[in-house]
Amino acid sequence: MNGLPRICVSKGVQPGPLELQGSQARHLAGARRLRDGDAFLVFAGDGLEYPARVENVSHDRVIATVYDSVRQEPPPTPEVEVWCANVRVKRMEWAIEKCVEAGVNVFRPINTEHSARGKELSLGRHDRWRRIAVEAAEQCGRLYLPVITPVLSFEETLKGWTGTLVIAHQEGRPWFDITAKLPKHAPLAVAVGPEGGFSTVEIEAATQAGALVASLGPNTLRTETAAVVAVALARS
Ligand code: SAM
Repeated sequence: MNGLPRICVSKGVQPGPLELQGSQARHLAGARRLRDGDAFLVFAGDGLEYPARVENVSHDRVIATVYDSVRQEPPPTPEVEVWCANVRVKRMEWAIEKCVEAGVNVFRPINTEHSARGKELSLGRHDRWRRIAVEAAEQCGRLYLPVITPVLSFEETLKGWTGTLVIAHQEGRPWFDITAKLPKHAPLAVAVGPEGGFSTVEIEAATQAGALVASLGPNTLRTETAAVVAVALARS
């Protein structure tokens, strides 16, 4: 990364004039102190990144020119999902930010037998999760935006999954023993349980559906730490 500010323009980017308003303009003008003539980068989450230059800046409006794309990447493989038990608000937000930095494609918050938090998740909370994910994508340089799904139960999530699933469990087999044998390009999901862990019923249902059970190391990690470690291992 070259340290230039990066802005995600989710409606799409093309070379030519660009106007940014609201929080994005305030971020560039205020926090990043961009002035007329300064350079920044824009992307839309489709694998392309464009250089841009500020033409005119006020505290809540930035007019810029976008130039031809100079960076392009194919989507990373394999597609990596993390199913993360819905833990306390701040920890969940931390997990989303760090999993996005570590390269998760899809972050699925799940309710499990031992975690019933947030069944009636407000739209505001989900919007905030998405904002955190976009900001993390801007900061870490990735070119594809992650998907943050609404909260579903572990059972429902399991029913809808057709790829490879690994249950993160301290008593599981060593991570690289099992993942070394997995197909390199097939979608991979790792499920991480709540403070109380997955129930035996949940682990059994998952293994009957073909899931593997893997350890992330000798120590007991908090849910949010386990989620980030799992994504980093899966991405590696
Ligand atoms: N006492 C709980 C148990 O029996 O599983 C510990 C739960 S831990 C705080 C929360 C979740 O993080 C676990 O359900 C598991 O998915 C994951 N986790 C934590 N440490 C792990 C490790 N060393 N290996 C694999 N998964 C781990």
